[in-house]
Amino acid sequence: MDEIGPDGQQRLLEGSVLVVGAGGLGSPAIQYLAAAGVGRLGIVDDDAVERSNLQRQVVHSDADVGRPKVESAADYVAALNPDIDVETHDTRLTSENVATLVDDYDVVLDASDNFATRYLLNDHCVLTNTPLSHGAIYRFEGQVTTFPNDRADGETETDDPLPCYRCLFPEAPEPGTVPDCATTGVLGVLPGTVGCIQATEVVKYLLGKGELLAGRLLMYDAMDMSFETVEMRQNPACPVCGDEPAIESVEDVAYEGTCEVSAD
Ligand SMILES: [Zn+2]
Repeated sequence: MDEIGPDGQQRLLEGSVLVVGAGGLGSPAIQYLAAAGVGRLGIVDDDAVERSNLQRQVVHSDADVGRPKVESAADYVAALNPDIDVETHDTRLTSENVATLVDDYDVVLDASDNFATRYLLNDHCVLTNTPLSHGAIYRFEGQVTTFPNDRADGETETDDPLPCYRCLFPEAPEPGTVPDCATTGVLGVLPGTVGCIQATEVVKYLLGKGELLAGRLLMYDAMDMSFETVEMRQNPACPVCGDEPAIESVEDVAYEGTCEVSAD
């Protein structure tokens, strides 16, 4: 393919991606990042494979039920492409370990299923200028965007700053206000589409090609089979990337205890 070529393949081989969550979104993302030949993949998840999730967590198989998801996913990658360096982290992302886990990778793909992880990753990636792919699903709908987090010091005033996740949603919803996936369910094939779009964005980022979903939120409705893209603006009052940010360190925030929505 002319747009990628040997140079692009080499870029992918030298690239590294941390996938946070090896469930519904993480499964297709891991599969396609591995198939694309991304040289180093980190996978974070502290759950075990459950049979009732296999309809959407397609990186795992029936024989993996009960195993740690990170091991099952790593076996998949090794079988597909033994040259890929896979690093498994059978743990939950916390404000204590986020720097150690994230800072070794070029880009982070958030395939998590809860607000605590989503806000923690956003804040850490904003504060460290780490590119972040965001994906979330709810019932029959999905949303995807990319936060390049490449705002450098000395940026000119004419530049339109890009938003972060907190620019859109400054705080997590109150516990109990948003039902979780266990009670509402999710269409099994939906995270496949959303996770593939996230993987597409990450591959484009590593290649340095195309237009990312930066400053744009892609909304997908599986029932209507409609895709809509809305422009997003940076919020000067954003608590982490605004003019006078209240959050200067992930230590400033109590992430656990926020309402957990199972988006996977
Ligand atoms: Zn922001």
